[in-house]
Amino acid sequence: MENSVYDIIIIGAGPIGLCCAIEAQKKGLSALILEKGVLVNSIYNFPTNMTFFSTSKLLEIGDVPFISHNDKPTRAEALEYYRRVVDTWDLNVITFCEAMSLDRLANDNYIIETPKGVLKTKHVVVSTGFYDTARLMNVAGESLPKVKHFYDDAHPYVGKKVLVVGAANSACDIALELYHKNAEVTMVIRGREINTRVKYWIKPNIENRIKEGSIKAYFGTNIKEIKTTSVVLETPKGEVILKNDFVLAMTGYQPDYSLFRKLGIPISADAQKIPLHNEITLETSLPNVFVAGVIKSGMKTSAYFIENSRDDALKIIDAILTPNP
Ligand SMILES: Cc1cc2nc3c(=O)[nH]c(=O)nc-3n(C[C@H](O)[C@H](O)[C@H](O)COP(=O)(O)OP(=O)(O)OC[C@H]3O[C@@H](n4cnc5c(N)ncnc54)[C@H](O)[C@@H]3O)c2cc1C
Repeated sequence: MENSVYDIIIIGAGPIGLCCAIEAQKKGLSALILEKGVLVNSIYNFPTNMTFFSTSKLLEIGDVPFISHNDKPTRAEALEYYRRVVDTWDLNVITFCEAMSLDRLANDNYIIETPKGVLKTKHVVVSTGFYDTARLMNVAGESLPKVKHFYDDAHPYVGKKVLVVGAANSACDIALELYHKNAEVTMVIRGREINTRVKYWIKPNIENRIKEGSIKAYFGTNIKEIKTTSVVLETPKGEVILKNDFVLAMTGYQPDYSLFRKLGIPISADAQKIPLHNEITLETSLPNVFVAGVIKSGMKTSAYFIENSRDDALKIIDAILTPNP
């Protein structure tokens, strides 16, 4: 890799990483984005038929218009849109290039190690999202191949007995899609009702399918064990054993804390495990290293999304151009 020293290296080519590169370029700073997977890798790994809950206007970045054919844009439209953003701004993105570690130099510049070589930079933005690491249920049998923490398409599950774990947006979306594709769907839900944050156009739909019995749901229930052809549930009325082909554990995702450790970014000691940062500048306790996007709120992954993180780029570039006296 080259010997040049970048003004900014951004780790993660999600929508917010792209925003940061655009704002840097607008101010004449040299910016490089390192991406361990494909461009907007999290969105690429969303369910194939997924529809955003935001309107396309709220997903726009870098003044590039996002026209969707639907009320709410689809995953495919978003992939095409963010590719167009990269072309429009001629952003410098290296895909399939993971940032593996960060070394601080005496002048507070940094060296980033990647599989393709080392890079030097004056500033680092960490915008690595949370969609790569599933929150585990920690039950016996969770590592069986029939247990999936990511869902792409209904096709493999047609005609099968599928247990969907969880009651938030993803679980409800997936349960409905599978039901419409003739899977035999059962939901297991820890609480007493469908999550109150489920989108208003999904909630009545899933509640009515449960009420009419098209989708069976066990509320106030935990999984005790997953076996090759069955699952054991702990329901309020006692243990229930169900025949089962697949378990789709839609129990959420969390930031990759091993990455923070490798980068040397401290996290808060409480349950939220926030990467510690200044809320105005987004600078971490490592000088010239910033956080951006959804990772800012640690384990509370629903606090930030694209539409309320787009300003992170402005805050960071302002802080870089107007350092403390
Ligand atoms: C099913 C679903 C639906 C959603 N719908 C909406 C919606 O309608 N509206 C909305 O605003 N938000 C929505 N969100 C949330 C939205 O996806 C996130 O807010 C958005 O992707 C966050 O952008 P980001 O740039 O912070 O992180 P991400 O998009 O997650 O990008 C992080 C990037 O960093 C890369 N990366 C990670 N580690 C490394 C490393 N070590 N080196 C290099 N690269 C690395 C990842 O591969 C990834 O590409 C939804 C999320 C889900 C799961």
